Amino acid sequence: MRITRVTKRRRRLGMILVMGLLVVGGLVIKESDLNLYPGTEVHEIAAAEEPPSISSPLPLEQISPPPAEYVVSPIPKPNGHEQTANQEITVNKPVKPDKVKPEASTKKNLISLTFDDGPDRKYTPQVLDILKKYGIKATFFLVGTQVEKYPEIAQRIVDEGHTIANHSWDHKNLTKLPPKALSVEIDKTQKAIYEATGITPTLLRAPTGAISKSVLDALHEREMLHVYWTVDTRDWAGTSVKDMYKNVMKNTHPGGIILLHSFGGRKNALDNTIDLLPKIIEDLTAKDYSFVTVEELITANQALPAIVK
Ligand SMILES: [Zn+2]
Repeated sequence: MRITRVTKRRRRLGMILVMGLLVVGGLVIKESDLNLYPGTEVHEIAAAEEPPSISSPLPLEQISPPPAEYVVSPIPKPNGHEQTANQEITVNKPVKPDKVKPEASTKKNLISLTFDDGPDRKYTPQVLDILKKYGIKATFFLVGTQVEKYPEIAQRIVDEGHTIANHSWDHKNLTKLPPKALSVEIDKTQKAIYEATGITPTLLRAPTGAISKSVLDALHEREMLHVYWTVDTRDWAGTSVKDMYKNVMKNTHPGGIILLHSFGGRKNALDNTIDLLPKIIEDLTAKDYSFVTVEELITANQALPAIVK
């Protein structure tokens, strides 16, 4: 009787021990499984540090073909940035890049207006007049052939404090070019802009936003960055002022980059851009946004990593 009880107790203890080992073993296996894929953890940590909306930026392969400026693009929707009424940066006095401390400006609602395809003599001067009237700075992505035709307008852009950037030599799809031709598209435009203005751009926006790893590598070799957009107005297509206004007001978030044009598009389409501009400047300012150049957006640590690479 006594022996049986002891035996039973031993068996019970044995079973508990075995079950305990199984549980611990399970945990160990689980943990070691995780260790087999350390990338998982790293990825989770990396994702948590990124802006909430860009938790999974598209790999390059998925970006090409990207949302084109001639096609409705998916709009990243940053959120979680606090708005602050206590703005130091005002519309009339954009802060110079070297004066913006990243830690001090993380809560500012900075956004950038960008104008592609110029310069020209019809629309670019009108855009510049409006920007001057409101005392705000923007970024112009210029096409080399246009700079060659209108160097004085390129100079005016620089004189009035805007950022001048590269938009290829003749608006080719950069992803379709062999390395040598790709270099020509970038370097010939850099040279034309330098000759017209004395400035060597550090930013490029590929025509229609079409980029590939080769395009990005070519830019990074030259210490340049590619700049996408977060709001595509489709102004080149003659989109109505009302529709563009609704799109911009709904989809602009801190760190936003709004895509507009100062040349090209369908006949007289950019008349709408000229009408739209004062309205969005006034109403986004009323919503506590400050307009800065893309360079300033980057310096202020407000550019979204999926948009400026
Ligand atoms: Zn373009």
